[in-house]
Amino acid sequence: MSEQPRDPQDGADSSGSGAPVPRPGAPAPASTDPGARAADAPEHSQDAVPGGARRTAELAQRLSTVRRRILDAAAERPEDRAHDGALPALVVVTKFFPAQDVLRLRELGVRAVGENKDQEAGPKAREVAQALAAQQPPVSAPVWHFVGQLQSNKAKHVVRYASWVHSVDRASLVTALGRAVRTHRDAAASGDVAAGPCAAEDLTCLVQVNLDPEASREDARGGAHPDTVPGLAREIAETEGLRLGGVMAVAPREGDPREAFERLWAISQQVRGEHPEATAVSAGMSGDLEAAVAAGATHVRIGSDVLGPRPAVR
Ligand SMILES: *Cc1c(COP(=O)(O)O)cnc(C)c1O
Repeated sequence: MSEQPRDPQDGADSSGSGAPVPRPGAPAPASTDPGARAADAPEHSQDAVPGGARRTAELAQRLSTVRRRILDAAAERPEDRAHDGALPALVVVTKFFPAQDVLRLRELGVRAVGENKDQEAGPKAREVAQALAAQQPPVSAPVWHFVGQLQSNKAKHVVRYASWVHSVDRASLVTALGRAVRTHRDAAASGDVAAGPCAAEDLTCLVQVNLDPEASREDARGGAHPDTVPGLAREIAETEGLRLGGVMAVAPREGDPREAFERLWAISQQVRGEHPEATAVSAGMSGDLEAAVAAGATHVRIGSDVLGPRPAVR
């Protein structure tokens, strides 16, 4: 039976992205081109999308390389950053790539996907959910992580599909997200909207920290100033419908990412002092995965090293 490849995150991913993987041995739709499968693609990975077997094989290849990097980096972590041996969770950032790629990744055992724009993520999440529900047996949707800058007026859309928001950087957004979750729950309870994940579970929020040492307190571009993080964490923790998960950052363009991620770790420790459950440290992208894991990341957000290069212009 079980030909499901063991995902490096299996059993180690207690931190919230753990939707069930497709049932081992579940019959996959017949591939139109089984010969195009890479030698190391898992047995069950016939493609759900006609003609897409080559793309699935390519994703399988890149994914296994990234999983190997996570394993290797985790093996090198200092003791105090090892989270009792739990492996960092992989969030595959699928922005700019179609729903079909999310379905392929799901088939390859990916449970957590990230998006950075609501206009793109909303329709994609709906398309993915419909396609997975139509499979026999139905496969659960991935866990959607929203990782981009978020306008408060988009909060009500994001809560329809996202389980996590990594980019909470101001009090007004905390208020908007809390209100959006509670409104969504009322609407879902009366059958007015399809119940998103936060109908049943609190929306996990991470405080996005600005790690640029030059950033001023007023700089609202990429995260909250470190001084404001404890206050924001408290507001999230006290807001009905939200769960404080921890902290997130993007390394500044200039300078050594290791130093930046060290500062993030120190801030994470400070937050955990007050909120012991807020253990998540979301750090690391394709270019700095190793630096982030060495500094104690619990979640890495990887886009191009799994999906390939994105168009340069957005
Ligand atoms: C796009 C994006 C990523 C992934 O970046 P890659 O360099 O493609 O791995 C990670 N985090 C955020 C916030 C992003 O917007």
